[in-house]
Amino acid sequence: MKTSNLGYPRIGAHRELKRACEKYWSNKISLEDLIEAGKSIRAENWKLQQEKEIDLIPSNDFSFYDQVLDTTLMVGAIPERYKKARKSNKNLLDLYFAMARGLQKDGVDVIAMEMTKWFDTNYHYIVPEFTKDQEFELVSQKIVEEFQEAKDLGIQTKPVLLGPVTYLLLGKEKEEGFHRLDLLPKLLPVYHSILKMLADAGATWIQFDEPILSTDFSEKEKEAIGKVYNGITEAFPNLKILLASYFGDYGDNLDTVLNLPVCALHLDLKSGADDLDKVLEAGRLNQITSLSLGVIDGRNIWKNDFESSLRFIQKAKEKLGEERIIISPSCSLLHVPNDLDLEQNEKVLSTEVKDWVAFAKQKLEELQSLKILANTDYKSQQLFLDNAASMEKRRSSKLIHKTKVKQRLEHLEAKDYRRESSFDKRKILQDEHLKLPLFPTTTIGSFPQTKEVRQKRSQFKKGELTEQGYVNFLMEQTFETIRLQENIGLDVPVHGEFERNDMVEYFGEQLEGFTFTQNGWVQSYGSRCVKPPIIYGDVSRPVPMTVFWTSFAQSLTNRPVKGMLTGPVTILQWSFVRDDQARSVTCEQIALAILDEVLDLEKEGISIIQVDEPAIREGLPLRKKDWEKYLDWAIGAFKLSTSGVKDSTQIHTHMCYSEFNDIIQSIADMDADVITIECSRSQMELLDAFSEFDYPNDIGPGVYDIHSPRVPSEEEIIKLLQKAENVLPASKLWVNPDCGLKTRGWEETISALKIMVSAAQQMRETV
Ligand code: GLN
Ligand code: ZN
Repeated sequence: MKTSNLGYPRIGAHRELKRACEKYWSNKISLEDLIEAGKSIRAENWKLQQEKEIDLIPSNDFSFYDQVLDTTLMVGAIPERYKKARKSNKNLLDLYFAMARGLQKDGVDVIAMEMTKWFDTNYHYIVPEFTKDQEFELVSQKIVEEFQEAKDLGIQTKPVLLGPVTYLLLGKEKEEGFHRLDLLPKLLPVYHSILKMLADAGATWIQFDEPILSTDFSEKEKEAIGKVYNGITEAFPNLKILLASYFGDYGDNLDTVLNLPVCALHLDLKSGADDLDKVLEAGRLNQITSLSLGVIDGRNIWKNDFESSLRFIQKAKEKLGEERIIISPSCSLLHVPNDLDLEQNEKVLSTEVKDWVAFAKQKLEELQSLKILANTDYKSQQLFLDNAASMEKRRSSKLIHKTKVKQRLEHLEAKDYRRESSFDKRKILQDEHLKLPLFPTTTIGSFPQTKEVRQKRSQFKKGELTEQGYVNFLMEQTFETIRLQENIGLDVPVHGEFERNDMVEYFGEQLEGFTFTQNGWVQSYGSRCVKPPIIYGDVSRPVPMTVFWTSFAQSLTNRPVKGMLTGPVTILQWSFVRDDQARSVTCEQIALAILDEVLDLEKEGISIIQVDEPAIREGLPLRKKDWEKYLDWAIGAFKLSTSGVKDSTQIHTHMCYSEFNDIIQSIADMDADVITIECSRSQMELLDAFSEFDYPNDIGPGVYDIHSPRVPSEEEIIKLLQKAENVLPASKLWVNPDCGLKTRGWEETISALKIMVSAAQQMRETV
């Protein structure tokens, strides 16, 4: 039996890569320094894995920005617009960063390549771009260099390649008249050249990542997989190919992969446990193929339950024999933080909860232990007993289980998920109550989080500023922002969210059942890392979270202030979620905590409340057949969190970066009185989905892009609003920016909002 790792976090235990990249980008360190920083992270990771006796240690899992972009550079799929950047840069890394981040220097002015979410994770990859006459050539030999680099350290690694089918399918056609999969015959020779070089350099195992196999496949796609891996195994009989898909089961693609003559097939047993029985069924697995059992959760931070992992391992061992078993994490460990040993502050992560958790390094130790245990009569081994004891402590912990929360969930009824009256009736009452003009203007919630705001927060956290001093500062900011919104003439002001560091963390910090880490960073994209909260127990809201700030803002103005909350699905989606109950149950608990807040706001006289749900779409399962179930509970949770209000209270929701066509029914089912969406960059095209569907409630399509400091012109906004009015009745339309303004400066914010308000006034006159 072997242990294998599919990938290790590459940002470094102390985010060394982030620091080095950002310094390099701002010309504070040299290229050599940057390269050296990468090298030392790789060496550290390899040595650690060697120390933990991992048999198949990955290489090429390191990346200065993103592994998909690495592949793009490897196969030379460099979009035309970087030609000049390519010529003017002596080294590939600068070209690479230009593709990742855009470049404005020495007469070169190119925008970055698009970025999007990696499957259903919070990691973002750079989207490959293909043209009809796309050519490929071997440009970057990073994978060979890194294999050699490890070899020089005395470590034989298993190079990891993003498989050609996943690579092509994750990309986009930039022209009409072809399908990207048709490029396969042109792409494969480059993969073959790389494999030849790796074989010559002495590589034995090669890992091919084809996570696209956990999505719905067409016949053509199945054929492509067959062609690629039959071809590779035939051309390189001496290379041992490990084919890995993860984030789900193989589903309908199982027969396709079982027919391949690969040396090992990886199963993600954390999200596709059923695959094991199917594969073990008599005769279904190729005689030459080993199984890589992904028993350790590569995406979540919970300590492995050895008993359950060993059950999988024993079952496979009985059928296949020990030699055909590899044990591994379910996917690359890229998605979990580096090292739990760095969490030394009990006030942040308590000793009790810490005992239930494993980060990347600890997961390697778990692999090591599982290998030892699998080869013994494990039930009497100390390693096993310790693990079982820790599992039992978690199962029965009073920190986790709150009778009150569970009982409240049990008593929910259908009416708790429904507003009292239909939208039409509510709208009449809300209009009477709020007396807003046509094309009412508002913002999405946050106002600029300036350096000063962040500085004060950090001073307060470090104890350099008293709580009173901090609160006074926030009150001043809020006061000024309300005055400003009145002066600009915004119909529905907000308090500005100055007290919030992050839209999930702020709520997590105040809810029971959540905990945090000091150093639990996970790469989100490029040098950007996030530190997701950990939801370990039943969730409840001990005291109001936002009432003070919203009421304070309301006390300063006669206009209706909109209260701002983050929705249950988004809080769930952007946290590490407990694995001892269904996500849907945890989500429902969060929904009830948010509902408590909504009702308290209403009691304090707040009559417009926005519950942001930007993450609803990204939570969609990878296979269509699973959508309905997810949407049922996700939309249900939103409704639960917002339905208890009076008809005259107006519920808003907000979503960004979304395509809505395929889930428009569910969006309508949310039954928010108003939904604000990001629309300006798509020139209101997004609205077509709403108009075709006859979306019943009110909509605020974003009228300007908040991602850049550029101030829009009045004509532009009017044009967009006219476009919106062409597809939807004016009585349904709100006027607002695309998203929150926290990343903007004050100057452009004020100018843009003035123009926006003036455009809305113009529109009113034309009706
Ligand atoms: N209310 C949040 C803000 O304005 C919404 C952010 C988001 O949609 N991601 O910042
Ligand atoms: Zn947004």
